[in-house]
Amino acid sequence: QVPVLTVDGPTASGKGTLASELARRLGFHLLDSGALYRATALAAQDAGVSLDDEAALAELAGRLALRFEGQRVYLAGRDITDPLRLESTGGMASRVSVHPAVRQALHQLQLSFRRAPGLVADGRDMGTVIFPGASLKVFLTASVEQRAERRYKQLISKGVSANLPQIQSDLRLRDERDANRSVAPCRPAEDAMLLDNSALSIEDSVVQCLGWWRQ
Ligand code: C5P
Repeated sequence: QVPVLTVDGPTASGKGTLASELARRLGFHLLDSGALYRATALAAQDAGVSLDDEAALAELAGRLALRFEGQRVYLAGRDITDPLRLESTGGMASRVSVHPAVRQALHQLQLSFRRAPGLVADGRDMGTVIFPGASLKVFLTASVEQRAERRYKQLISKGVSANLPQIQSDLRLRDERDANRSVAPCRPAEDAMLLDNSALSIEDSVVQCLGWWRQ
């Protein structure tokens, strides 16, 4: 079996950075599962499909023409790398992802990322639903204040104007929706290793995870 390492956690917990660094060091493939929900939201926007229309969204998700090329992402040939990362797209993705039929439609696509020599998968339900047999499951936790602060700095460094209280309240709303939905809520798997990275550098977190991986 091709080994899988999962990294789950709430919005802006640093999953993406940690997962891509782990994938790089281990020489593994990377699945950014949030990108699939984000791309579905963008596809819905393009097609004029309502974010409440579960059947139409699931249909879109089931035939997503997504292509990952290095750091760029293409949807039906269009470069969606920048719109994919927008806060507004994350918010739409969180609404799209509450629908069980959408999650079902993206299930197989996520499994297809598991290829030799291994996979690092990040998201909300990688360890609980998609790869329950993963060799190592990491669940990141960090306070909402800490996460808002990080997201704020990230936006400012990109020259995007940002408002800290607004970011905090958006994060709370998304946490609430992601943790309380009926299907695949964002929770640690029973056998997950909890990592509170509030006071850790990225390097500290990477070293901790690689230590667990090699055990
Ligand atoms: O991780 P990211 O911010 O890109 O995810 C965007 C949204 O997609 C999340 O707020 C969450 O609602 C949803 N998501 C999910 N399951 C995943 C990954 C993301 O429900 N495995």
